[in-house]
Amino acid sequence: MDIKRTNIRALRKALDSKEISAAELCGEYFKRIEDADPRLLSYITVTKEKALQDAEKAQAVINAGNSAPLTGIPLAVKDNICIDGVRTTCASKMLENFIPPYNAAVIEKLNAQGYVLLGKTSMDEFAMGGSTQTSAFAKTRNPYDLERVPGGSSGGSAAAVAAGLAPAALGSDTGGSIRQPASFCGVTGIKPTYGRVSRYGLVAFASSLDQIGPIANDARDCALLLNAICGHDRHDATSANVDTPDFSEKIGKPISGLKIALPKEFFSDAVEPAVKQHVLDASKELEKRGAVLVDCSMPGLKYAVPAYYLIACAEAASNLSRFDGIKYGFRGEGRTYEELIRDSRSRGFGEEVKRRILLGNYALSSGYYDAYYKKALALKQEIIKEYNDIFGIADVILTPTAPTPAYKIGEQDNDPVKMYMADICTVTVNIAKLPAVSTTCGYTENGLPVGMSIIGRRFDETTVLQVADEWENGFAPISPKL
Ligand code: GLN
Repeated sequence: MDIKRTNIRALRKALDSKEISAAELCGEYFKRIEDADPRLLSYITVTKEKALQDAEKAQAVINAGNSAPLTGIPLAVKDNICIDGVRTTCASKMLENFIPPYNAAVIEKLNAQGYVLLGKTSMDEFAMGGSTQTSAFAKTRNPYDLERVPGGSSGGSAAAVAAGLAPAALGSDTGGSIRQPASFCGVTGIKPTYGRVSRYGLVAFASSLDQIGPIANDARDCALLLNAICGHDRHDATSANVDTPDFSEKIGKPISGLKIALPKEFFSDAVEPAVKQHVLDASKELEKRGAVLVDCSMPGLKYAVPAYYLIACAEAASNLSRFDGIKYGFRGEGRTYEELIRDSRSRGFGEEVKRRILLGNYALSSGYYDAYYKKALALKQEIIKEYNDIFGIADVILTPTAPTPAYKIGEQDNDPVKMYMADICTVTVNIAKLPAVSTTCGYTENGLPVGMSIIGRRFDETTVLQVADEWENGFAPISPKL
């Protein structure tokens, strides 16, 4: 069976028709991992033994004719999502040997359907970054060009799906970490509305922005996975107690009359011309299929990156204060309590994580709070208001996912501000708690994927997935050569 770019629905059919067994199927993926991952570096941990046990259990369910959509389906999970008994590192030396004694809520839900875990995928350390190059263990490469980054922070998940080392994966998105790597690796990823998916068991980066979501070969698989992982959870105080629709309910329905807004600031000179052109061409194609294009403006976009980094770093500084080398995680040396904590944190965290803790504590300290953090909160309200205004005249918003395609490894290493600015197209979605899907809209002259994002109203994942699917219908993705 050719597993490259094979979607979950096709795997479901193959399993239910007994064309392949669950154990054989995960065996195919492990073969692919053994062959390609030494070059791709998408996994931190591969869980072969557990997978074969899971597959056997799933097979019994399939044989009894009781398959759920994910029974026996192999999946990869980003290494900041806790799985009972499986090492969860957050790609940090701080958690190198951390084995959680419990499952994240999303893992409980996947278990209930009998999925098969392939392994834990690499990421930027503690999900801080957009390149997966700050991983302490596996600096993942882009499967379309091994000299380039896969994006981040869920770069391992996106690269693994693109190269056929998993049919789909879970990622997390605080400021673009599902959408941007999906865009760099030519796959589809959705950041659900904040509160749609429980954060219980997701190692926190910035709690008011973090959200778990799927990365898959297409929008239909994203809908299927979102159906599996969503829902209210009493273990997460910010989990939304709202009805959960079938996220594929609008898939295949015509988009005629649907209003798509194109805020002009997302098409400024900060975005590479080739990227802009691909997204605009896609908007024209959607117009041909019946959508109505609406021009609009989002003046607050120019404040989005500073507002995001202030909020995200402030929350990160607070969340990461729990890593003291005493309760769990990396333990340094020291004669006194203070020395021990200082040494553990100095050596356990990487440079980018420490930079953000410093920034966050600075912004929250007395005397600076009003000047920075409070201003960032005011900008947050402004961004929310501007989105509300646009959703008064349109159903969805179309933007590039990132200003450039995947860049060369090392290119942005010495310029954190440049790297932060590259998040301009994605961070407002997290600030406003909206759902957004990224899908491939074209390829550059040298064959690199270009992604576009479809942003929806809060809790309107069904419409963004409908539009993404409509687009994917007429689009033939190109697999990487790897
Ligand atoms: N690139 C952004 C950052 O570095 C987003 C990270 C994320 O979404 N986890 O903060």
